Amino acid sequence: MALVEEIVAMEKELTEWRRDIHAHPELGLEEIRTSDFVAAKLEEFGIDVVRGIGKTGLVGVLKVGNETKSIGLRADMDALPIHERNTFAHRSTRDGIMHACGHDGHTTMLLAAAKYLKETQNFSGQVNFIFQPAEEGIGGAKAMIEDGLFEQFPCDYLYAMHNAPGLPVGKFGATSGLRTAAGAFFDIDIVGTGAHGAHPDNAVDPVVVAGELITSLQTVVSRNVKPTETAVLSVTQVHAGDAYNVIPASGRLSGTVRTFSIELMEKIERRVTELAVGIAAAHGAEAIVDFRIVFHPVVNDEEASKIAAEVCDALVGPENVIRESPPSTGSEDFSFMAEQVPGCYLIVGNGADSHPLHNHDYDFNDEALVHGASFFARVVEESLKPDAS
Ligand SMILES: [Zn+2]
Ligand SMILES: [Zn+2]
Repeated sequence: MALVEEIVAMEKELTEWRRDIHAHPELGLEEIRTSDFVAAKLEEFGIDVVRGIGKTGLVGVLKVGNETKSIGLRADMDALPIHERNTFAHRSTRDGIMHACGHDGHTTMLLAAAKYLKETQNFSGQVNFIFQPAEEGIGGAKAMIEDGLFEQFPCDYLYAMHNAPGLPVGKFGATSGLRTAAGAFFDIDIVGTGAHGAHPDNAVDPVVVAGELITSLQTVVSRNVKPTETAVLSVTQVHAGDAYNVIPASGRLSGTVRTFSIELMEKIERRVTELAVGIAAAHGAEAIVDFRIVFHPVVNDEEASKIAAEVCDALVGPENVIRESPPSTGSEDFSFMAEQVPGCYLIVGNGADSHPLHNHDYDFNDEALVHGASFFARVVEESLKPDAS
């Protein structure tokens, strides 16, 4: 039971890479510096690189020996529109953009495994190192698939990993079945009639419609979803007006919905639309609903999860490997890849005292780098063992 020695020896260098990426965050489909950084590293290791798969996405290809089996390893590269509050030396150099989900760490872990696997070549088959852009609801996984990811780089199994705040470093989770929720984003434009703030009788007030609609939307989960099923509906943005004495002509509500099935998501879409259109009409206004399903649920393949859990056992001991855990209402666009190729989406501990994901105080824990990288390295060596015969 041990981490990969050669990767542990790289820890200082990996921390430098991770902090470099952290200091230079880029939003989804704008990961130009990041993909340049990744491509330069892969080329330096001697790994073939194909760029432009999903705009800023790229794939490193390493083929060793004669076996035809192949493994895909996927990391995400994008940051979030959050202003970082940390003051350490590697804090974001870009105002309003921050690696608050640890994708800087995921990218570094996969680069580390690529370097190790190229140097040691202790397997036979092909490894596709998939560096995905735009995971945060901007469609990066779909963009790579639409650009022929799995036609150009066929994979028998796929693995991806996300850091988990609250889970101690050195622990993994590799659980079969449903892992993350389907996710939708919605915008509801409420169109009324503007007027002087002192003369509401001349207006169709979209602010009043919005207020009523926010409250009514809370009945969708409580009244339309089976009590035994899980769903979340959050209105997260309210926009209308910009003066004290003007009733605006329009307003917008936006938010997100999470479910564990597409059928339930479609039912909620229907209810959101009915409520928005109906409540607006009752006040003489109009509602235009744009409801977009941006994530499918991640369902881990049973065999891939078994392989992943066994690899983790060998790295940190079975007592540190979670095999059963409830699914999360978070979402992940790895779901679209895992619909095409059997895969396992793991979690790796980011520390018991880590700040939560998407928080302005968050930072990826550099101590987790060697754990994640060791997993990626060993899952390849275990899955692509050279034929003994
Ligand atoms: Zn995120
Ligand atoms: Zn993330």
